[in-house]
Order: sequence, then structure tokens, then C-alpha cells
Amino acid sequence: MEFQSDFLIIGSGIAGLSFALKAATLGTVTMVTKKSQADTATNLAQGGIAAVLAAGDSFELHIEDTLRSGAGICRSEIVRLVVENGPERIRELIELGVAFKHGEQGKDKLDLAREGGHSARRIAHAFDLTGREIERCLLLSAAKNPRISIRENHCAIDLLLASKAGLGPAGEQDRCLGAYVLDNHTGEIHTFQAKTTVLCTGGCGKVYLYSTNPDIATGDGVAMAYRAGAKVANLEFVQFHPTCLYDPKAKNFLISEAVRGEGGRLIDRHGRPFMTKYDPAGDLATRDIVARAIDSELKASGDDSVFLDITHKSADFVRRRFPNIYQTCLAYGIDITRAPIPVVPAAHYMCGGVLTDDRGRTSIPGLYALGETACTGLHGGNRLASNSLLEAVVFAHLAFCQCQADWPGIGASPHPRVPAWSPGQAARIEECVLISHNWDQIRRLMWNYVGIVRSEKRLSLVHERLLPIISEVRQHYQDYLLTPDLIELRNIATLAELIVTSARLRRESRGLHYIVDYPAANDREWKKYIVLRQRHPHEFLPVN
Ligand SMILES: Cc1cc2nc3c(=O)[nH]c(=O)nc-3n(C[C@H](O)[C@H](O)[C@H](O)COP(=O)(O)OP(=O)(O)OC[C@H]3O[C@@H](n4cnc5c(N)ncnc54)[C@H](O)[C@@H]3O)c2cc1C
Repeated sequence: MEFQSDFLIIGSGIAGLSFALKAATLGTVTMVTKKSQADTATNLAQGGIAAVLAAGDSFELHIEDTLRSGAGICRSEIVRLVVENGPERIRELIELGVAFKHGEQGKDKLDLAREGGHSARRIAHAFDLTGREIERCLLLSAAKNPRISIRENHCAIDLLLASKAGLGPAGEQDRCLGAYVLDNHTGEIHTFQAKTTVLCTGGCGKVYLYSTNPDIATGDGVAMAYRAGAKVANLEFVQFHPTCLYDPKAKNFLISEAVRGEGGRLIDRHGRPFMTKYDPAGDLATRDIVARAIDSELKASGDDSVFLDITHKSADFVRRRFPNIYQTCLAYGIDITRAPIPVVPAAHYMCGGVLTDDRGRTSIPGLYALGETACTGLHGGNRLASNSLLEAVVFAHLAFCQCQADWPGIGASPHPRVPAWSPGQAARIEECVLISHNWDQIRRLMWNYVGIVRSEKRLSLVHERLLPIISEVRQHYQDYLLTPDLIELRNIATLAELIVTSARLRRESRGLHYIVDYPAANDREWKKYIVLRQRHPHEFLPVN
């Protein structure tokens, strides 16, 4: 079937919903989302959203903190744009009904938290369920808007390009006209046409064996954009959270840094503490240092996990201070008042993505990218905590302003005729193990070879090992009728290839990219982004 609307938004997290609510003032909006509408990273966000809201804080301080965290390669004009837009966007969220926690002082004062890397209290939050509150409120507003329709269990496969529809040449002049989308329940593939298409598909944590991300995070937006010829950048910068519960049944449960803050100690399988070997601050070292230390211990020992031990504190204190962690671990058979918690670092956030300008426009006309899928230049080589929700709401607004300015021309243009999806000779897959095995291979390879600490040797080995898997996946894609698992497998294979390629090109250590062969940053040669584009040589984009 064919569906037409003014806007097609792929993804129903904070980026997609924030843009949808504004775009609906211009025209009709269709959102497709590949599971249920709240299956998003947004819904899991705990800490909050950063903005300059306190009397003693300033834009200059927030800008400085973001630049410092970004390891010298943030785009400073984007940092300023996002930071200065922050307070207004938070006010909009409050007007929509987001119940941020208020302080003791009264109703008009938010209770602002402070997080690592921030020099002031500036995190608006709803206890440790901030994302859930934002998602709830945005979904409620979207449901009330007659111009917005949300289609759950619809998985976008590929972007629809004018050149592929025989409506113009490929290359710089090509235009995005929407996307082909699988209805997960019926197996039908529909054409969703739109005058403007917006990728809001979140991150790619599931490329790695261990991740804090929800299952939807398979880098689909980046993979689709790359296949369509868009520029993608900075994909070597993957942020890892140091302590995620290690249990085969617990998919993505974070053990908060506050456990170490309250005296929790990292120990190996024999009960030996190890953090002071790596940093004088010991267990209280920063996230990237702790993640690297755990990685090094696991590589040396071959163990599956290290352990976080808080048993020396009274059971009563632990239960009161960490009720959620206590209950969740107990559900997996671990009483944290009596036994150490098995933990591993886990892939948490993708700092790179589809390269955009200061309005969220990608290098393909008609296509925007927002939220974690985009590489706007805000995060540089390392994201500052709580800046990602902020980036999503600010860029949703900036993209809307651009669409509003373009609307007199774009809104009036008719939808062209486009071809329906053709399955070719594809047949139903009888052996799903073909898909699950490749999934597992890629995620394990990425974890072991392209994780927190990299080396030239491992990067070149993983490249060799990925190539046959990638060609096998391409063959599956030709041979079999599409399923959500096959679509995601194809996308994680693409992301794995892009991350490895970018990591091999950057011959220095900077921010989240640490490579033992080049342990220091090299500002003279490497203050630039690595930009990849299918069928084009890689480019370097200098940053100021
Ligand atoms: C555990 C956890 C805690 C976090 N805590 C914080 C925090 O405190 N503060 C902060 O700023 N950031 C935090 N982050 C990061 C932040 O939550 C995310 O970066 C942000 O929510 C991303 O929003 P988004 O709208 O870009 O994507 P998401 O919220 O991930 O939404 C992506 C959407 O795209 C859809 N989608 C994906 N592929 C397809 C496809 N092919 N077809 C159709 N739909 C598709 C998904 O189904 C989903 O609806 C945290 C992340 C995690 C995982």
C-alpha cells in the first residue's frame, strides 16, 4: 500500500515526538516506530536534561563544560546554539506537562541536580525516571493531535530516493521522498511518501554484545542514510558506561555510579580491588577511566565480569539508598547486601551519526536527522552527561524553524508517483539460526575487538573477520523475505563496518576513542571529523 503525508518521522523518542508536535502546525505527520511507541532509549533515561536554569549558572559555563568533555572537537558554534536554546525548550516541555521535580523553595523553582563534568547544578529531572516522564507527556500530546498518526510495529527498511524512482539523477541533486516500511505483523512492505522525512531512530548500542540500550538501538537511521548516500561522521566515538549488571537474563540494567559514590569497590573474581592500579582516584575515577580499567582486567583474566562490592555497608543502608538496584538484582538472584554484583561496561551512547548542519539537515535534500541518530557537532569526542536529551529537543525546534521557512515551496509541491517495493526472488526464511548466528558473531566481534580499548592489530583482524559476515548478510537480504530481525542484522552489520573503518582511520587517542598504538591526542593532525559516504573516498572535516 501507499501512504502519503507532509512529514514522515521515523522513530517515536524525544527527537521524533518533539519535532512531530511542531510539524503538525504545518501539515500532516505520519510517525512509524518499529516496536511499541514507548520502546525508546528516551523512556530509559534516568538522570535528566541539562540546561542553564539556576541563578548562579551561565551559558558560558555550560559551553565550557561541553567543550571540555568533547575533547577538543565539538563544533563551538553548535555548542553555543544548543546551550542558549536550552532554557526555552525546557519551558516548552513544562508547558506540555512534563512534571520535573521542584525544589524545596517552591513551585516555580526546579530541583536541579549536578552530574559529572558539569560545573553547576543544571540537570532538570523527574527523580531517576526523567525519560519516562518526558516520553509519557510527549506521547499524550501527540495522541491528542488529529494531524499526527503513529504506526507502531512498522520498521523502516530503506529511504525512498527520487533517483531510484526514476525521477532524476543520483548524486548531489537527489531527493528523499519517504521510506519503504515493513509492517512487522503482516509482513507487507508499504511505501510511505512524504515531502520531508526525518530520521529519529536513536543509537546503535546493540552493535555491541553488552549495552545499556533498548533492543531498538540498531543504528537503523545511520545505516539507511549511509546506503542512500548521505554523509555520516564521528562513528569511532562510542560511549561506554562502566557498570552494567552482568547476567544473561538482564539485558540492559545500569548499576548507577552512585554505588561507587557510596563506597562500592570494584574487585576481580578473587576479591582483589584493582582500581588504584589505574588511577589515584581509585573507584571514584571518571567513567571512561573506570570503563577502560575494567576492560583491561577482563582482557587479562579472560573472565566474564568483574564485581562491584557494597557488602561492607549495612544491609539496611544499602536497601534504603538503592531500592531499585537492590530489588532488580534480587530478582536475578543476587542479594547485593551479601554478595558482590557482577558488572561489565556496556555500550551506552553513539556520539557520531548522520552529519547535519545547524538546522538538522543532512546532505540529502528532503532528509533531516535528529537526536542520537544525528552528528550535529555538539558532543565532539565525548558526550557530556544529560546533553543528549537537550540536543534532541533543541534540534527538533531548529529543524521545525527551517521547515516552516521552506514550507511555502515544499508544502505546495505534489507527491510524485513512485514504484512499489519489489521483493524480487526472495523466499521465506526457514532457518532463523542463520540470522541469529550472524547477530551474535557481529556483536561479539565488536565487543572483543572494537570496544573501549582498541589496537591496530585487533582493528585490522576484525575488519578481515567482518567482511565475510557482511557479504553473507547481503546475500540473506537478497534471498529472503524481510523480517524485522533481518532488517536489523543488515543495519548492525553496516554500523559495525562504519565504526571499524572510522576507528582505523583515526590514528590518535581522543575522547572515547582510545587506541594503544597512538595513546595521545594529536591536535596538529586530528582536530577533524572523519566523514564517510558510500561509494566515495572518506573525507576529513576540520573543526574550529
Ligand atoms: C539507560 C539509559 C540512560 C540514559 N540517561 C540519559 C540521561 O539521563 N540524560 C540524557 O540526556 N541522555 C540519557 N541517555 C541517552 C538518551 O536517552 C538518548 O540519547 C535519547 O533518548 C535518544 O532519543 P532519540 O529520540 O534520538 O531516540 P530514541 O529515544 O532511542 O528513539 C528511537 C526511536 O526510533 C525507532 N526506530 C529505530 N529504528 C527504526 C526503524 N528502522 N523503523 C522505525 N522506527 C525505528 C525506535 O523504535 C524508537 O521509537 C540515556 C540512555 C540510556 C540507554
